[in-house]
Amino acid sequence: LSAAIQAPRGTLDVLGEDAARREAVEAHARRILSAAGYHRIETPAFESTELFSRTVGETSDIVQKEMYTFTDAGGRSLTLRPEGTAPTCRAYLEHGMHKLPQPVKLWYVSTFFRAEAPQKGRYRQFWQVGAECIGSGQPEVDAELIVVLAELLQAVGIRDTELHLSSLGTPETRAEYREELIAFLRAHADEVSDEVRARFEQNPLRAFDAKDSATIQTMQHAPKLIERLTGEDAEHFASVQGLLDEVGLAYTVDPTLVRGLDYYTRTVFEFKSQALGAQSTVGAGGRYDGLIAQIGGPDTPGCGWASGVERMLLSSGEIPVAAPVVDLYVAVAGDRAVPRAFRLACDARRAGLGVQLELSRRALRRQLTQADRLGARYVAIVGDSDPAALREMASGEQAELELAGVIPTILRGSRLT
Ligand code: ATP
Ligand code: MG
Repeated sequence: LSAAIQAPRGTLDVLGEDAARREAVEAHARRILSAAGYHRIETPAFESTELFSRTVGETSDIVQKEMYTFTDAGGRSLTLRPEGTAPTCRAYLEHGMHKLPQPVKLWYVSTFFRAEAPQKGRYRQFWQVGAECIGSGQPEVDAELIVVLAELLQAVGIRDTELHLSSLGTPETRAEYREELIAFLRAHADEVSDEVRARFEQNPLRAFDAKDSATIQTMQHAPKLIERLTGEDAEHFASVQGLLDEVGLAYTVDPTLVRGLDYYTRTVFEFKSQALGAQSTVGAGGRYDGLIAQIGGPDTPGCGWASGVERMLLSSGEIPVAAPVVDLYVAVAGDRAVPRAFRLACDARRAGLGVQLELSRRALRRQLTQADRLGARYVAIVGDSDPAALREMASGEQAELELAGVIPTILRGSRLT
């Protein structure tokens, strides 16, 4: 006997109550994002590897150790998408969306893939709701995106979130600051983790992302990028804060917030929830004014966020989930009744009713139990000839009638006796 095949490590099946809660998250996202003028986009599950190495960054965790990369039969290097911003920008460019009125607002709810050590809130295939606003560099874009994400998190019942906000300035500011930070890390090399020590010459900013307390302690005293912002960057950052103040959305300016992806410029933000423990970030994003140029397009500003669906579900209380409505359960009295019962179920659905047909050919008594369990309003008991019986479950009233009369009777909602 061979062992039963199981799902790959770090993946999950979406079923039952979990599926219903996810649908609720998706419905809230669709409602809130559509109302804010975002249009749905879906991109392929895999892309050219280069799309991610050029934008997310060669020295980022994602590119260095988390990508599922393979070579196809044509010798091309492809990667299962680890994130949604670069693919969305690729699509914006490829479909000439710069010709549309700007900015272009797009949203998605899709699966992403990262080869990470699986743990609570961290999977190898996971879902994100994401929003991208491409084609305007104004601070109101950043602020609007942040407010929309706050609204989504609130709608799905995530309380006690904390908004962390910072600015990474322009690449030029960052290049100068980088040297300063490397000098600091060289001077404190014996106080940081081995991992940080091995990588800071390559990517010093990542040291702020370290999770060990010794490095965190040291980095508190490091020079901060936010103190080196140029005039326009500082102005942009102040405007974003001013707009958040305008609507009373609380935030903490966090100079250690750097984010793990290289494409960010200026504004970066994260919503954290204490309910999540180690994986405390629910949703995060920022501005990426250089990204489209990095993939061969014209200079185009952009800003966006992504929020992990599993983490939203882990950190939310009850999301009200509506059970599917069963207006009619079609019970089948005998094998020869199957065609008539089948026709009634199809006709009733076409008439707009929520219908479940008995599909296991149970004994009639057990069919009624099943109908009751599903909360069916009516049960039609269909034999191989008329009359059929129609029972209203709440009152227990039952009437005999022609099969053709079942649907009109339910639609009228009239009393049976
Ligand atoms: P972390 O610091 O937790 O690794 P990240 O900075 O890599 O997060 P982003 O790339 O900003 O995460 O992705 C945005 C959101 O997607 C995260 O805030 C989180 O909710 C979710 N997310 C990221 N990686 C995973 C994963 N492996 N499993 C589940 N959700 C994830
Ligand atoms: Mg990560």
